[in-house]
Amino acid sequence: MSEQFGELRPPLRVLMGPGPSNTHPRVLAALGAPTIGHLDPAYLEMMNEVSEMLRMVMRTRNRLTFAVSGTGSAGMEAALVNVLEPGDEAVVCINGVFGMRMADIVERCGAAVVPVEVEWGKPVPPQAVAETLKGRGPKVVCLVHAETSTGVLTPPAEIARLARESGALMLLDTVTSLGGCRVEVDAWGVDVCYSGTQKCLSCPPGLAPITFSERALEVVRSRRSKVQSWYLDLTGLERYWGAERVYHHTAPVNMTYGLREALRIVLEEGLEERWERHARVHKMLVEGLAEMGLELLPDGPFRLPMLNAVKVPEGVDEAKVRTALLERFGIEIGAGLGPLKGRIWRVGLMGHTATEANVAYLLHALGQLL
Ligand SMILES: *Cc1c(COP(=O)(O)O)cnc(C)c1O
Repeated sequence: MSEQFGELRPPLRVLMGPGPSNTHPRVLAALGAPTIGHLDPAYLEMMNEVSEMLRMVMRTRNRLTFAVSGTGSAGMEAALVNVLEPGDEAVVCINGVFGMRMADIVERCGAAVVPVEVEWGKPVPPQAVAETLKGRGPKVVCLVHAETSTGVLTPPAEIARLARESGALMLLDTVTSLGGCRVEVDAWGVDVCYSGTQKCLSCPPGLAPITFSERALEVVRSRRSKVQSWYLDLTGLERYWGAERVYHHTAPVNMTYGLREALRIVLEEGLEERWERHARVHKMLVEGLAEMGLELLPDGPFRLPMLNAVKVPEGVDEAKVRTALLERFGIEIGAGLGPLKGRIWRVGLMGHTATEANVAYLLHALGQLL
């Protein structure tokens, strides 16, 4: 058997796709620390520290701030299933794959989707949300801050203001943005916000940071029906992450070590400094690509620093380039999705991967191949 299944040897990669990013070596080391019980006092203390650091990184004072056991999509699902009940209405801004995923989950909750559909590659205009909200009283307005499928950033503050004015909760996806560009949960008036570990936090995939405002918790507490997901029901999760510490499920202990270390690294670097690094490295990439005659899909002010949607030049087989990057240079980049399939490459500059050295290496490799 041991010969049939050889030693684990994952190839070394520079992960410049839409995620995961390269895990920080200190996070890898933390993951390998001895496992302890998920109700061990030492573990409970770590959970408190993770919550406290998440509040700092998400810029919120929300008491209920923790990490869902599961990837970013589990965070999305936890956010939606707790807020929505059958018969509710949700306005969902859709300008890419992840807005569509939100709409899919809303439907599975038995709620009605009122879409604000925007061309892929463009941000969501607040006036389109204002139009949609006229004469309606949805329970929630859902927005993806950083649309990883198109490389587009939508500024959330104005949309959040409109949502609250209409009496709705504001729900924001920051899976790709958290730790890579400004995220201000409280200042923007966001009620529910979730993220993921494997993008700009540079931890492996497996946990989803999430936070709920008191306004959101009031909505959750006044539900008439049970949350259809037992695993993601806040009633149970709140008792485990809160003061009561009642067993709900066995937390992924070592992943919590990893996230704790990843958050420590973010705070050591400083949030503003980290955003600035992502912006600087993004600028270097854009300039280098321009010299090669390559352009980005989104308009300047709405480009994500950590996810660059690069237009594939006429006559170039985009899949061949990706394969050669991986095989010859060990660099992973992403393909386009949906309507952008074959039309763009997605170049991630996330967290630990967002360095000048990596950009220089990618530009060199692309130069060789094109
Ligand atoms: C990656 C991503 C998700 C989903 O996260 P998974 O970890 O793949 O489940 C959700 N939203 C956005 C914007 C993402 O980029």
